Amino acid sequence: MAEFDVDLFVIGGGSGGVRAARIAAGHGAKVMVAEEYRMGGTCVIRGCVPKKLFVIGSHVHQEIEDAAGFGWTIPAPSFDWPTLIANKDKEIARLEAAYTTNVEKSGAEIVKTRAVLEDTHTLRLLGGKTVTARYILIATGGAPNHGTRIPGIEHVISSNEAFHLKALPKRILIQGGGYIALEFAGIFAGFGSDVTVVYRGDNILRGFDDDVRTHLRGELEKQGITILTGCTVTKVDKHGKDFTSHLSNGSSIASDQVMFAIGRHPNVADLGLEEAGVAINPHNGGVAVDGWSKSSVPNIYAIGDVTHRHNLTPVAIREGHAFADTVFGKCPVQVDHATIPTAVFSQPEVGTVGLTEAEARAEFNVVEIFKTTFRPIKATMSGRDTRVLMKLVVDGQTDRVLGCHIVGDSAAETIQAVAIAIKMKATKADFDATIALHPTAAEELVTMRTPSARYAREAAAE
Ligand SMILES: Cc1cc2nc3c(=O)[nH]c(=O)nc-3n(C[C@H](O)[C@H](O)[C@H](O)COP(=O)(O)OP(=O)(O)OC[C@H]3O[C@@H](n4cnc5c(N)ncnc54)[C@H](O)[C@@H]3O)c2cc1C
Repeated sequence: MAEFDVDLFVIGGGSGGVRAARIAAGHGAKVMVAEEYRMGGTCVIRGCVPKKLFVIGSHVHQEIEDAAGFGWTIPAPSFDWPTLIANKDKEIARLEAAYTTNVEKSGAEIVKTRAVLEDTHTLRLLGGKTVTARYILIATGGAPNHGTRIPGIEHVISSNEAFHLKALPKRILIQGGGYIALEFAGIFAGFGSDVTVVYRGDNILRGFDDDVRTHLRGELEKQGITILTGCTVTKVDKHGKDFTSHLSNGSSIASDQVMFAIGRHPNVADLGLEEAGVAINPHNGGVAVDGWSKSSVPNIYAIGDVTHRHNLTPVAIREGHAFADTVFGKCPVQVDHATIPTAVFSQPEVGTVGLTEAEARAEFNVVEIFKTTFRPIKATMSGRDTRVLMKLVVDGQTDRVLGCHIVGDSAAETIQAVAIAIKMKATKADFDATIALHPTAAEELVTMRTPSARYAREAAAE
């Protein structure tokens, strides 16, 4: 009789868990995956995919507005929220089924239940059944975090509920200044809601390049999104269908919905981590792991958002794949977390890779900045008041491009390609040697000749 029921037990059928299960099964391992909600996890069910569908849908209003400048007369458009939700649900159900089929085709078994650790090799499923495993992979992801329990917090929705609202709110208050808050601000504004963003910091998108933060804020405000910084929601009152949010600056705002997107926490609670001796990373609250995604217990690994490293789908997938290759494929591989491109699907989009200007200036002796803002060609005809920002951060001593930051339509698509060059350690001279592709916005990245700023530390300047 085998020593364990399975070679690998994966807790969580999201981006990372599914990839790990499929690859491990492909390497010949006997694999079981537990999923307590829906296969596909956050990204597919209530994250990246439905969000992007909403962004695309809401952006249509800009296309319609812009059309007039190109000679089109379009009758007054109308929008039906329930149709959007129904079509989105259909697409998400299709993807969920595809995830399930692909896992099953790989030979792994799915158990649709919650699983928790009982000890280092034993899982307990809801209902009491236990399964033993040689290796365990914790891939339980994360969940919205509403922060301090303010009065009326029960009236507040998160991104989870925003995907299932029965009606489009006429007015919505969104607390948060990160990418999820701003993406939903653009979504609701695009569909016609009156949007107010409330953020406790001095500017939105903490951690992004300061020029990006300022530029995006200006662009969102031009579209009529109200952004209130330096304050928080302290209390939410409900009167019938309406809400009043009281702010720390003494003002109050009426709305039909109140949404918080102020952060996410790793799903580590009630998972049996203590029973199994799995340590938590004291700095971020996620499962503590080494460079191989191995936890403090040698046969238990953790990947994706539950480790709270870089909470992005492609990172979770890469970590799951690397784990399976390392443990079951006789091919040890560590994930390189440097230079990960990211996007904010706000309207306009943000695409960013590498160091911000502030990070570069803290780390390098000489930093050169190449920056431009310009009116995109479409706006010249549509009359839309919008500008694109492109910025390169360069090591003035080696000429290496350290970071690239874009705000403008298709910034995410552009930055994915730029990320390859930056990962390959391209220099500014490499960018300059590349012939421009005209007429595009991205050609500015290879035609900026003169630095807009140069910062040299005194010792380096001598
Ligand atoms: C609104 C939103 C938008 C996002 N947009 C983007 C984007 O544009 N690009 C991007 O790269 N990332 C985006 N993300 C982040 C991305 O969704 C996550 O980084 C990614 O899903 C992490 O994958 P994971 O496998 O670690 O966890 P998840 O995908 O969260 O999967 C974890 C799974 O584990 C299950 N589970 C938890 N506990 C148990 C248990 N005890 N037993 C059984 N099952 C359990 C959960 O139900 C879940 O299905 C977004 C997230 C949100 C919320």
